[in-house]
Amino acid sequence: MTEKKETEKTGWNFDNSYARLPKSFFTDLNPTPVSLPKLITLNYPLAAAIGLNAQVLQSNNGAEVFAGNKIPVGALPIAQAYAGHQFGHFTMLGDGRALLLGEQITPIGSRVDIQLKGSGKTPYSRGGDGRAALGPMLREYIISEAMHALGIPTTRSLAVVTTGESVIRETEQPGAILTRVAASHIRVGTFQYAAKWGTVEELRTLADYTLQRHFPESDSSGNRYLFLLQEVIKRQAALISKWQLVGFIHGVMNTDNMTISGETIDYGPCAFMDAYDPATVFSSIDTRGRYAYGNQAHIAAWNLARFAETLLPLLHDNQEQALKLAQDEISNFTELYHRNWIMGMRAKLGIFNEEPQDESLIEDLLSMMQKYHADYTNTFRALTFGKLLDIDFFATTEFDQWHKVWQSRLDRQQETKDSSYKLMRNSNPSIIPRNHRVEEALEAAVEQGDYSVMERLLDVLSRPYAHSVEQEDYSTLPMPSNRPYRTFCGT
Ligand code: AMP
Ligand code: MG
Repeated sequence: MTEKKETEKTGWNFDNSYARLPKSFFTDLNPTPVSLPKLITLNYPLAAAIGLNAQVLQSNNGAEVFAGNKIPVGALPIAQAYAGHQFGHFTMLGDGRALLLGEQITPIGSRVDIQLKGSGKTPYSRGGDGRAALGPMLREYIISEAMHALGIPTTRSLAVVTTGESVIRETEQPGAILTRVAASHIRVGTFQYAAKWGTVEELRTLADYTLQRHFPESDSSGNRYLFLLQEVIKRQAALISKWQLVGFIHGVMNTDNMTISGETIDYGPCAFMDAYDPATVFSSIDTRGRYAYGNQAHIAAWNLARFAETLLPLLHDNQEQALKLAQDEISNFTELYHRNWIMGMRAKLGIFNEEPQDESLIEDLLSMMQKYHADYTNTFRALTFGKLLDIDFFATTEFDQWHKVWQSRLDRQQETKDSSYKLMRNSNPSIIPRNHRVEEALEAAVEQGDYSVMERLLDVLSRPYAHSVEQEDYSTLPMPSNRPYRTFCGT
């Protein structure tokens, strides 16, 4: 079969619009081939959704393509340039170990990036080896797919291959490559790169490209760049509130890890919170708690301010006016975020309409959870099913009083209790990727080559609101341990 025929049979349908941007935005580069590619996991539903034939990928050349050994016809691999504030410090970055193969045009005509992560060194690798280890790539696969199932905008994971080569981290690890699917990989850091090192015309080209790709409804008669800023702020306010509502902690909210599309990206040291505590941090390198659970909205606003700064030359000819426009928008973020969050919290408590006291009802519950170290997910789940014996603090008089206030709040709305509990079932997942479950799956996969534990976990995570009996097992908490759970950036 010719390569063209094979590509067509697989369903690849590439365009390369990013590679048509000015040359300074990327470097043309092929992946570095690996010695022994093996397909470990392939996401069948995602493949189908973007027009790929998973069976063909599984049986034929999927491993070769996902390893970067074979480039499908129509792909034009590039490493993207970007900068970013890492823990507050500005630096030049770029795809140091990833390549964009191109944009797959899906059967419904949408455009998604196909990126290989772990595909070898690039001009942006700095000291790194350009590679990735199996554990962290499977971790990204599991958590990103869980986030998608939870209804949270995210990049997705199409496949993981092992390379047959090892990478050196704290220990020697099997090497792997993740194929990531994203609305795009345009980051706040991409704009920072253009603003710092590009011309104003290059910056405008990037902004126009982004508008066309993600916000095509923008109106050319108004201030398009102000519209871009407003829309990005809206999407991030929606995204971060969703993270908070499920207890997700990203762990490295550097500006290069914040997308313009509003998708969650870069699952490094992320994790889900067990016991409710705003100060929760899992990342071993986040020693000051910059990216703690309770700080994520604040950091998002900080990152968006960095984004707004990059747009100043486009917002207005007069820089004072531009600054004023940007500041006004940024100051809206907190309110927007809060509105999204409180709407989500109302749903978690079965509340349909709005009353001024709702906020204190929510805050009172959260402070009890914090005081009694109650598990975040399981507390809402227990309230959803009226299982008021399951959690220790439910036995306190404090809770008893709160419960009465909550019940009378539900009685004051028109909707029946039944519809309230239905709303709660759809708003409170019983299944999140619990850290000990994720670790258990990764250990079986990496240490024993046993992928069945991960397959089972992925299966239950794909239906977080099913509340089925076989999922019960996955909501139990880890055995108490003296050591706090830690995640590592050494990915
Ligand atoms: P991250 O912490 O994954 O957001 O990555 C931050 C920057 O470090 C990006 O520019 C990555 O491409 C780069 N990077 C991370 N790991 C490696 C690696 N093993 N080799 C080369 N560059 C890397
Ligand atoms: Mg990153």
